Amino acid sequence: MKTIENSKINSDQELKDLFQLIEKEDSQYHSFLSLHKNYARFDENRQGKLANVPIAIKDNICVENTIVTAGSKVLEDFTSPYDATIIEKLQNAGAIIVGKTNLDEFAMGSSTENSAFGPTNNPLDTSLVPGGSSGGSAVTVSANFVPVAIGTDTGGSVRHPASMCGVIGFKPTYGEISRYGVIAMGSSLDQIGIFGNRVGDIETVFNVIRGSDPKDSTSQIEKSKKSAKMHNSEKISLGIPYHFIQKGLSVEVKEKFEMVVEKLREKYEIVDISLPHIDYSLAVYYIIMPVEVASNMARYDGVRYGKNKNSLGDEVKRRIILGTYTSSAGYADKYYHRAQAVRKLILEDFKKVYSQVDYIMMPTSPVLPWKIGEKINDPMSMYLMDIFTVPVNLAGLPAISIPTKRDPLSVGIQFIANQFNDDSLLKDSKEFLEIIKNI
Ligand code: GLN
Repeated sequence: MKTIENSKINSDQELKDLFQLIEKEDSQYHSFLSLHKNYARFDENRQGKLANVPIAIKDNICVENTIVTAGSKVLEDFTSPYDATIIEKLQNAGAIIVGKTNLDEFAMGSSTENSAFGPTNNPLDTSLVPGGSSGGSAVTVSANFVPVAIGTDTGGSVRHPASMCGVIGFKPTYGEISRYGVIAMGSSLDQIGIFGNRVGDIETVFNVIRGSDPKDSTSQIEKSKKSAKMHNSEKISLGIPYHFIQKGLSVEVKEKFEMVVEKLREKYEIVDISLPHIDYSLAVYYIIMPVEVASNMARYDGVRYGKNKNSLGDEVKRRIILGTYTSSAGYADKYYHRAQAVRKLILEDFKKVYSQVDYIMMPTSPVLPWKIGEKINDPMSMYLMDIFTVPVNLAGLPAISIPTKRDPLSVGIQFIANQFNDDSLLKDSKEFLEIIKNI
């Protein structure tokens, strides 16, 4: 299992060997869209917390002078003229960006099958999807190419593939990490997230890339220092919204989740909680997100960005049409404004519950990974895969998906904290992982 500690590159040859290994083994997974063989360098004088640590980046994040496709034909020749803030920060900390990973087109999807460059396979079973939309990044960690990888999470795109591929996936509080240089999907929901095998590695990367950035007015680290708090009482309490999770859970996930709860009960207080408006999350998300998508996609008009041809995939087009419709005059009140109002209620429910419990716990995905191709023609059933992850983005909360033992598949268990409690969530997740990884 790769960790930051055991995968530092020590010579030019070691870096070459890593590229060779990836080229050979990734032919079964297709997790990378491009390898930065001419761009990545080993440097023995490099200092910093990530000195010569190889990292993979989702291909919707800009790295200067390299192609960034967002998984779309529209951008297949587009070279970024600048670095995203997180790329600058990773490189200043000494990281080696080894390449860009596959994703659903413009991060829209839950299986990485919407990539214009073909799907990615799950290393736990290559006939299965790796989840999405950051499936490529999840696979680079799961297949042991790199110790940590970066993704983006608008409605679950880091936690969901982490859960499908048996690795840890962390999405911080909205605004903790600058989105400058990240290709926007739903701007009020988008947040960078981190994949890894150890919670400590994720913490290290998070501390390198977090912080306010004058180039992103929604990055708000200062606020986080003020409002973060530790536990309600000495014994950590975990709230489970049973009324919500009972629906739609597959037998396998349900069984595993119950085993995990029973084990955690030995050490933590388990509380049955109620989130009265959470049932509306998926409906609210699939109104608000497409409106933001429709607005963000307007720049790919072939003049400012993108090729002057109709090369967008079906899922992207579907969302542009949906978002344009639900925000148009005459319909905005009925759909978009109403969804905004319910979004507020969902957030208020979460806030209330955090005065009773420290974390909320539920499965990350309702089902185990499915066969490649199985749901591709059924967008509604694909949208249902996000049921447990989208409420977190609507409320801007930090959350982590922690894997059970690979057997050979694994189930992701999601822990959700109150806004700005990212540090305590990560600290306590080390303990959660120690227990869950054996189940
Ligand atoms: N699967 C969700 C969607 O299709 C989430 C995507 C994401 O988080 N980028 O919208």
